[in-house]
Amino acid sequence: MHFYCVFGNPILHSKSPILHNYVFYKLNINARYCKHLLNSDNNFKNIFLEYGYKGANITLPFKESIINYCDEIHGIANEIGAINTIIKNNNKLIGYNTDASGFYKCIENYDIKNALIIGAGGSAKAIAFILKNKGINTAITNRSISRLEFFKSKDFQCINIFELENIAKEIKFDLIINATSSSLKKELPLKLELLKKLFLNTKVAFDLVYGSCEFLELAKQYKLIAIDGSKMLLYQAIYASSLFLNKPYKTIANTMQEVFDVAFNA
Ligand code: NDP
Repeated sequence: MHFYCVFGNPILHSKSPILHNYVFYKLNINARYCKHLLNSDNNFKNIFLEYGYKGANITLPFKESIINYCDEIHGIANEIGAINTIIKNNNKLIGYNTDASGFYKCIENYDIKNALIIGAGGSAKAIAFILKNKGINTAITNRSISRLEFFKSKDFQCINIFELENIAKEIKFDLIINATSSSLKKELPLKLELLKKLFLNTKVAFDLVYGSCEFLELAKQYKLIAIDGSKMLLYQAIYASSLFLNKPYKTIANTMQEVFDVAFNA
């Protein structure tokens, strides 16, 4: 039997085992996926190898630190500097980032030419690089200016909140993404008046949290397409599972979608 897990802290809330174990069951694969609470990333590679895992997902707060324990980094994870998926191959840990492609899958059918990301943490980085790679002009704003430095160094347009207030009426973003954790605290990521001005010229609003939140409720008042983070969770898990099992995206997608609909509508 092969073992997989999701490493994080806290980890009790994670729905990843439901998604991955259902795929193993339906595709007749002798494997199990569990939650692994990690107190620190010290000695991560030894922990991974001692437990005999074949693959794993990495969640908060380790996505940026555990990349340092990988022997190889593949794809867009190199630019982002963060991973959420690891595969063991010949005792080497190979790191990937499927958050980025999972996010893009949610918006790929909309006509998006430019985007504003609110937030400058790990998930903002994943989203910024996938949008850039897809040719979408991407600007970043954040509550604290210091975190914008990383994005400036990567040639993204960075707008501090004071500038944004001055230009909000004139600028137009097809897509605005709340990549902050504000919605978890039932707060808006920017002042209400500022968001109202921005939403006047926007088509799609995206919030990374699962389910409804004030940011998306406001977007709906402005008749925007409002997308929450639950599908991003699903799509990143499908990409991760296809890496774990070396199977095409489509094979995993049909199966994982079934259990996702049950788990998220429960
Ligand atoms: P980080 O901790 O790396 O970054 C948090 C960001 O949120 C910072 O830019 C911070 O600003 C900003 N922020 C926090 N609180 C507020 C607030 N009240 N008002 C304005 N800005 C605020 O987090 P991540 O990037 O890893 O994750 C962000 C969110 O995305 C989390 O809620 C996480 O659960 C969710 N997520 C969802 C995924 C999915 O699959 N749907 C995948 C990954 C993440 P500052 O720099 O000023 O502190």
